[in-house]
Amino acid sequence: MVVPPQDNAFSKLGLNDALAFGVTEMGYAEPTPIQTQAIPVILSGKDVIGSAQTGTGKTAAFALPIIHKLGSHGKMRVLVLEPTRELALQVEEAFQKFSKYTDITATVVYGGVGYGKQRDDLRRGIDVLAATPGRLLDHMEQGDVKLGDIEILVLDEVDRMLDMGFLPDVKRIIQKCPQARQTLFFSATMPPELAQLSSWALREPVEIKIGQRRSPAETIAHAFYPAVASQKFDLLIELLRRTDFKSIIIFTRTKMGADRIAHRLQAEKHSVGVIHSDRNQRERVEALQGFKDGRFEVLVATDIAARGLDIAGVSHVINYDVPENPEDYVHRIGRTGRAHASGDAFTLVTEDDVRDARSIERFIGATIERKKLDGFPYVYSALFDEKALAEAAAPEKPKSRLMRGARR
Ligand code: ADP
Ligand code: MG
Repeated sequence: MVVPPQDNAFSKLGLNDALAFGVTEMGYAEPTPIQTQAIPVILSGKDVIGSAQTGTGKTAAFALPIIHKLGSHGKMRVLVLEPTRELALQVEEAFQKFSKYTDITATVVYGGVGYGKQRDDLRRGIDVLAATPGRLLDHMEQGDVKLGDIEILVLDEVDRMLDMGFLPDVKRIIQKCPQARQTLFFSATMPPELAQLSSWALREPVEIKIGQRRSPAETIAHAFYPAVASQKFDLLIELLRRTDFKSIIIFTRTKMGADRIAHRLQAEKHSVGVIHSDRNQRERVEALQGFKDGRFEVLVATDIAARGLDIAGVSHVINYDVPENPEDYVHRIGRTGRAHASGDAFTLVTEDDVRDARSIERFIGATIERKKLDGFPYVYSALFDEKALAEAAAPEKPKSRLMRGARR
């Protein structure tokens, strides 16, 4: 189909009619700030380090100019690396949708499933490949795919790629890409430790930052719920009972913890899906799909689901366990409040978590309100001592007071 000439906010950024028409059809009225800033720079051929809050359209910020630059169907010229299977799939789907009125093709490779279909897809010849690093390396070793024609390389959730489980694989993959290429880094969080990988992989990158580097989306309301460890589950049940939620994601620190919470919630008649890395791919797909379809009102997950997943209508995120790294907090709660929607993020905090809770507040640069449930039969904890709480909450008292004063 030939699309009519377009004159909208997306075509004004330099995107061709097929793309500008396609996104309008998808319901995008205006580009988001990261899209407005990143699209022209990517079109100009420069390397980019792009950061913007969770749920603000980073995928389209790189996918749209990439599809524009590809022009028409040819060799495999684009590689997008993603840290999880679910994300690789999601980004491939996004490329499919954006390229609906073009002849650009995309496919995806990820672990936990057979090689045959992926190998066939690769050999058929596609323009854009979304991949998780481990499986891509397997295919490279088996000669299914070569990266010699890659013109644009994207590392999405790039700070996650610094983790030891990924970094060696990612480096090997980058080394197989041509030196003369355009490289794009995207994430909601860009820690300073990224500098080394950036200077190695990028050439004179343009840095685009929307919002503070560490800030969660403004549409999310946060609360800490102090509790003793033995009452966490009861408190969770009571929170669920008192919360008017559509769909909710509960994060735990461990896979076993996720299974345990899921079983107990099922016993309380909640419909529950579970995602963690010890579940097989079929189970992971079923849990995620069931949650998206509304068959499961609750998704219990480890940090494997913390990043990037775009699920409409997640009204609440509950951190049953405080995340280990403050970055993970920002990503976990970013599963709600997406694309201008609002959302609530609750975190259960025990005495053992006070330090981590504090580092979350320091990281996001805000104090999170402590809340108690009226009438809940709380067992006493030092956490409820107002003074201890205040001290735990505000390590840099004078500064935070100043900031609060300034804002008023
Ligand atoms: P991020 O990677 O920044 O977390 P995504 O790229 O996953 O965010 O996008 C979040 C949601 O916002 C997706 O459902 C996407 O379709 C939607 N979206 C992206 N850009 C726009 C836009 N310009 N207008 C409306 N919705 C958008
Ligand atoms: Mg994303």
